[in-house]
Amino acid sequence: MSQYRFSRRTENGAKLRVSFEFFPPKTDAMEERLWETVTRLGPLEPAFVSVTYGAGGSTRERTARTVRRILEETPLTAAAHLTCVDADREAVDTVIGEFAEMGVKRFVALRGDPAEGVGAAYRPHPGGYTNGAELVEALARRGDFDISVSAYPEKHPESPDFATDIEMLKRKVDNGATRAITQFFFDNDVYERYVERARRAGIYIPIVPGILPIHNFAQMMRFAGGCGAHVPAWLAERFEGLEDDPVTHQLVAAAVAAEQVLDLIERGVEDFHFYTMNRADLPFAICHLIGIRPSAERSNARPAAA
Ligand code: FAD
Repeated sequence: MSQYRFSRRTENGAKLRVSFEFFPPKTDAMEERLWETVTRLGPLEPAFVSVTYGAGGSTRERTARTVRRILEETPLTAAAHLTCVDADREAVDTVIGEFAEMGVKRFVALRGDPAEGVGAAYRPHPGGYTNGAELVEALARRGDFDISVSAYPEKHPESPDFATDIEMLKRKVDNGATRAITQFFFDNDVYERYVERARRAGIYIPIVPGILPIHNFAQMMRFAGGCGAHVPAWLAERFEGLEDDPVTHQLVAAAVAAEQVLDLIERGVEDFHFYTMNRADLPFAICHLIGIRPSAERSNARPAAA
């Protein structure tokens, strides 16, 4: 591997950009941890931060509260995730309106998983948007939003083949999506092949790799099982025997994520979306490594109004 000396730019002069994904906290303790994370990662000046939306609108209030707090108390750009699960069009449109009213200009538009859980057959609400593409269309109709969508380098588990998967991505782009963020993956060749497939299908929007730093290997395995992400044997071997050794686990996790990100930079990738799991340490360390450091001029906290 070559020696890296980045300063927010690659050796070719390309600018590196990051975004961070959070989930809305359930308890006061989780809220405190999320806020520590936002405070630590904010000064890295991400392009945006996003807040997930629970299946069936189960986190509607918490997602809204979290997005509002980010908008009100930080200078960060916040994107709200939104899903179509178990809601008719009117209900989804109402949520879009509520977000717009609080100043949200970016959305991550998703179909979502069935409320019964991943793996159950997806049944759209009879009066609802049936997939991500229809939700993108609704958002684009409603306002001048920046709309991100999902992409699946290993194809979505419900897609019978890559052609169907890419076709859905194309529909989302045709309806107004300007960025795709991928499901997490660990094999960069798989990502690169997917991007090539998309480009061949006439999809030219950025397809930003979703990077999952592995805070907890066992938990990651559960996520991977649910969303169809392949966990290579070499990765499992690296974490073998570390169940009761959190310090080494953390060091290995940082090394694995750094290796993946540095390799993607070598392949020409300039944007990264981090699934933070509401923890700052690993994304912060990886950003440091690639030259993304806290801005000296910009503090994350906005001064309280006089
Ligand atoms: P879509 O893009 O609408 O469809 C996914 C795939 O299913 C398509 O590629 C297509 O091949 C197939 N498909 C769908 N409809 C049809 C059809 N009519 N005919 C044939 N094939 C079809 N989930 C949440 O609940 N909340 C979140 O906040 C959230 N954030 C996410 C963020 C990112 C970046 C990603 C990658 C995923 C996120 N998810 C979230 C998970 C997502 O909701 C699930 O993966 C869900 O199963 C699919 O949603 P989608 O928007 O990708 O679906």
